[in-house]
Amino acid sequence: MSVLKRIEARSDELAQIRRDIHAHPETAFEEERTSDLVADYLTRHGIEFERGFATTGIVATIRAGEGARRIGLRADLDALHIHEKNDFAHRSRHDGKMHACGHDGHTAMLLGAARDLKENPDFDGTVHLIFQPAEEGLGGARVMVEEGFLERYPMDAIYGMHNMPGWEAGHFAMRSGPMMAASDSWTVTLHGKGGHGAMPHKGTDATVAAAQFILALQTVVSRALDPIQTAVISVGHMAAGDFGAPNVIPSDVLVRGTARSFRPEVRDLLEARIAELAESAARLAGCTATCDYERRYPPVINHEAQTRIAARAAAEVVGSEAVHLGVDPISGSEDFSYFLNEVPGAYVLIGNGPVGEGGFVHAPLYDFNDEIIARGAAFWVELVGHELGTNRD
Ligand SMILES: [Zn+2]
Ligand SMILES: [Zn+2]
Repeated sequence: MSVLKRIEARSDELAQIRRDIHAHPETAFEEERTSDLVADYLTRHGIEFERGFATTGIVATIRAGEGARRIGLRADLDALHIHEKNDFAHRSRHDGKMHACGHDGHTAMLLGAARDLKENPDFDGTVHLIFQPAEEGLGGARVMVEEGFLERYPMDAIYGMHNMPGWEAGHFAMRSGPMMAASDSWTVTLHGKGGHGAMPHKGTDATVAAAQFILALQTVVSRALDPIQTAVISVGHMAAGDFGAPNVIPSDVLVRGTARSFRPEVRDLLEARIAELAESAARLAGCTATCDYERRYPPVINHEAQTRIAARAAAEVVGSEAVHLGVDPISGSEDFSYFLNEVPGAYVLIGNGPVGEGGFVHAPLYDFNDEIIARGAAFWVELVGHELGTNRD
């Protein structure tokens, strides 16, 4: 029997787990019930595991054969602060929280793979199944790396998977090189003297500096970046003065925004240029500037060898015509990048099927598609065989 058929026979069990997690969403570092559910399932199937990584994280380990190679497969556990608008039976029971990114499905797929690998240990080496908390914004992966998780569990390769609404259900997509963007925030404050709106010559005007700065920002991507590369800088927040005092020149103007990029060197360029332009614009207006650039998630950069292995494993499950190697990168970001910065690996996408009305990820009508659980779980199992070797015929 094929791996997929074997796991499909358990589709109902896995869908039930997925819906149970969906109905009880928990947000960053508070995934306690979800973590208990994972631990219970692993215990029931005789799989060893360790708890407490970045608070609620779990790492299960399955060994087979004599092979020394070790790989990691990662799922994320957390939900979002969104009020669910679906009205099906498994809708969120936790007001204001929702599994709107499909991490319920990712957890169910990895549990399905864990059970199958334990029952059919037809591979040669060690698999670590990583159930990671706090992917959404708070960087559970970064916390795990800082805690020394990779020293405790050294790995030769690591893989992650995310569902993608709008792509055909159960199709796989990946690319080698940049796969998802770095997501950074920056805050520039322009400091002037301010003063009476009728007597600008007695002070210095930080609003003029801010205006110059925002226009100059538009030249970073268009003039400073190699045209073959790409990046985005957007202003998302401004604050100055008081609505009730239009006759007062404010002394400080705050400008905040986001910066997205796909390569470390482009990221360095954005950080440097934003500060240089803020300082130059300030100087022109006789003001000063302070700049704070906060590096959040690094870009997800897939390694070539592991991307190819993942594509072959996916083709084993769904056929090569349903595997799209070399897709365009995605401008969203992912904390899986913290693992990929340390260990070679690949991050792949699995199609979640058509987007219903407003059903994209992070939307209140989204739902993970249970139809793809078996294919996702079978992909993990095939990937282990391709990575570590198998005796299957
Ligand atoms: Zn998300
Ligand atoms: Zn997600």
